[in-house]
Formats: sequence, C-alpha cells, structure tokens
Amino acid sequence: MAAGCDTAFTVDASRVTFGRGALAEAGDRARGLGMQRVALVTDARVRTLPWFDEVARSLAAAGLEIAVFDAVAIEPTDVSFEEAARFARDAGVDGYVSLGGGSVIDTAKAANLFATYPAPLRTYVNAPAGDAQPIPGPLAPHIACPTTSGTGSEVTGITIFDWLAMHAKTGIASPRLRPTEAIVDPRTTATLPGPVVAASGMDVLCHALESYTARSFTQRAAPASPTGRPLSQGANPWSDLGCREAIRLAAAYLARAVTDAGDIEAREQMMWAATLAGIAFGNAGVHAPHAMAYAVAGRVRDFAATGYPGGPLVPHGMAVAVNAPAVFRAFGQFASARHLEAAALLGADTRGATVGDAGELLARQVIEVSRAIGLPNGLAAIGYTEHDVDDLVAGTLPQQRLLANAPCEVDADGLRDLFSRALTYWAD
Ligand SMILES: [Zn+2]
Repeated sequence: MAAGCDTAFTVDASRVTFGRGALAEAGDRARGLGMQRVALVTDARVRTLPWFDEVARSLAAAGLEIAVFDAVAIEPTDVSFEEAARFARDAGVDGYVSLGGGSVIDTAKAANLFATYPAPLRTYVNAPAGDAQPIPGPLAPHIACPTTSGTGSEVTGITIFDWLAMHAKTGIASPRLRPTEAIVDPRTTATLPGPVVAASGMDVLCHALESYTARSFTQRAAPASPTGRPLSQGANPWSDLGCREAIRLAAAYLARAVTDAGDIEAREQMMWAATLAGIAFGNAGVHAPHAMAYAVAGRVRDFAATGYPGGPLVPHGMAVAVNAPAVFRAFGQFASARHLEAAALLGADTRGATVGDAGELLARQVIEVSRAIGLPNGLAAIGYTEHDVDDLVAGTLPQQRLLANAPCEVDADGLRDLFSRALTYWAD
C-alpha cells in the first residue's frame, strides 16, 4: 500500500427495481418519495411509445400532478439543460421522473440541480472547464427509468453535455446527482433497433472493462476530508463484482441481442448487464476509452450511424468502442492480471498466457465482439485519418478526471500513439 493513498472505499448504491412490468410502480414509488407535482422528463420519440403512457397513467393513478417536458436534445447541451431547468422552476415541480436514454436522464439530473440551486452553469461543472464546486445540499427526488440498455445513467451521479461556447463535451459529477431510485423495465428494450443495441451494448462492456482495469482505489490519494472521497474512487471490490458479471453477460448475450430483436432473453440480460456496469462505473470510474470518446464524438464530420436520427453523429458507445482495443493493448502490462481475467470472461483461452500477452488477449476479444455485432473497424471507418490525430489528442487532454483513472500515466504522446493505433483493427 502506497503512503498517502486511500485505504477504504465507499459503496454508494442506488435503490433499483428491476424486472418486466416494473414501470407500473412509478406512481407509488414517486408518492412514497413525497412527490406531489412531478416533472415527467422524456424526449419526443419516447413520448410516442407505450411506456410513456404507462408511466403517466401510473403517476396519475397515484394522485400526482404531471408536467411533461419532452424537449430533451439527442445530445444535451448547456442550452438544453438550462431550458429544462427553467421548465422545472416555472412548473413548480417537487420531483422528477425521467423516462428515456442517457440524454433524458442526464437532462433531468441537470434540471433538478439548477432548479434547486440556481447558479451559473460553470459553478458545478468538472474542472478544468468549470469550477467543480460541491453541490450545496440534497436535490429533489428523482426516479430514473431507462429505455436503452447502455449508459447506466439511472444509477450514476454523472451528467454529460456539450458546452457549446467552449466547444467541449464535459459534465458534472456528484453523489447528489445520483437518481433517488431507478426503475429498470427490460420490456423497453424490445423496440430498440439492432444497431442501437450494438452501440449501447459496447458502452456497457466498456464501462465494465474500464472500471475493472482502472487504477485501484488503494493507488489514489487519500481524500482530504473523511467524506471527500471522489465519486470515481478507482477499482474496488464492490465495482469488481458488477464488472465481472456484466462482462460475462455481454459475452453470452450481446451478439444475440443485436442480431435477433425477438431474442427477449438476450435483450433482458443486456439490460441487467447495463445496470450492473452502471453501478460499477458509478463507483469506480471509467478511463481512457471514454476520455478519448469525447473527442471522437465531438469532432464528427459527416459520419451517420444506422439506426440513429439523421445528421452527423457517432453514438456514444461506438465512440468509446473504437478506442478500446488500442487502449487495452497498450495498458495490459500495467494491470495484467485484470486484463487476463477480463479476456477469459469474454471467452479467450488464457491458459499459459504471460503478463506480456494480457493486453493483446483482451484487445482481440473486444475486436471479435465488435466485428460480430457490426461496429466500425476503428476510427478510419468513422471518417478519421492520421491527420486528425493531433486534434483528437487536444480534445482528449481536458478529460483529466477520466485519464487519472487509467492504470498508468497518460500524456499527449501516449494519446497520440493510442489514436494512431485505433485507426484500423482488421483487414476488411
Ligand atoms: Zn459510456
């Protein structure tokens, strides 16, 4: 154990209700949390799905008033966050129910924060972009109901957005942002297009793999105050539990869930994997593949992803997945036992493998999964060339909160190498 490093970890668990039909509990649970007038936050697409009516009916049946906000942007921005907070203030709500993907849940978190503690946006935003001030007190209750099997936002204290004036994707991280409860109803994934399940499923797998290979909590500085331990406290025995099971489930079910929309078992198991991986990374923290993904998604030129709304867009899970093999290849030597164990959970034969094989074995398994579910063959397949590498590095360096979670130091030269090696993975 290194001098000055932490010796304890905190289990910050959410209350999770998981299972088919669980959405019908939304009303009783909201009333149980003391809500009387609820902001029901969703987006225009989810509003047309049966799940929306089901939740709205459940809230009404519990005697709650509802104010619907369905103007969530696909990629939230500071402007859309402020719009949602203004809505919540004007509507005089005392609680939030969010129904949708990560963007919807993140918008509800931000609306809750800025409606409860009005302040300039930068006040709570992660450093170095923002001032990273602590949130002064508890927020209004929030029940998050995910309709995609990916982000895990329903169980994390993180909200991500595009800061338009800064041309940067950044976020706010605090245990106070964590939804009070999550209701995870796997029926919602039945309507997702295969390519969406593929991208969000790789996000799940990368949450688990990155949290599992992150710097250990015993290698991080001890918190300055007893309650000052960061949300991303490094790999720890609690996050390890969720990571291992999420990796195992992704190996067993991800390809099935993508290729056969009728495979209910596979889709439901991926929803559970997403929940577990969300709990894990919400406690441990992800590292380089996610840090690099901000630049990959943010600098998109004309790539359009099948299954997603038109316009240039690299879905979050895809932006993460294209970096992952290069990162594991390079970092395997720094946490070799964990890379080997993860590779084995993904189906690699690790008998006789040495420390030097660890990164390569895990990278190969991730590439195999990516190919099986139709993800792009590296950064080149989404429109980047070696001429973009310096720009991608510049876009990644501000993500110090994530880079600090990596099992080794990551500087500009290291990132340049990672992006160069992430251009192409296999011969088409
Ligand atoms: Zn992610």
